[in-house]
Amino acid sequence: MPTFLTHDANAHIKQRILPSQRCEIHPIDFHRFKVDDKWNEAIVDLEQHSCSCREWDLDELPCIHAMAVARLAYKIEATFNATDREPIWEG
Ligand SMILES: [Zn+2]
Repeated sequence: MPTFLTHDANAHIKQRILPSQRCEIHPIDFHRFKVDDKWNEAIVDLEQHSCSCREWDLDELPCIHAMAVARLAYKIEATFNATDREPIWEG
């Protein structure tokens, strides 16, 4: 079943795309990441759906730190899935 966002939720996420792309991500373990947004550092826990900046916890919409980590997690998953289906090269 698809998920639909309200207009306000969609605007919230769109405003955070560019700042989230500027974050540096440092894995702590499989679920937790330290994220440096150039002004502050935050700890994102993907398993708990939580960020130490508290925005994700209070608004229930992802903050820039959570979006940065989600993008990285998506890229890793896509890389593994792509590798499973299509070899990068064949010898
Ligand atoms: Zn955050």
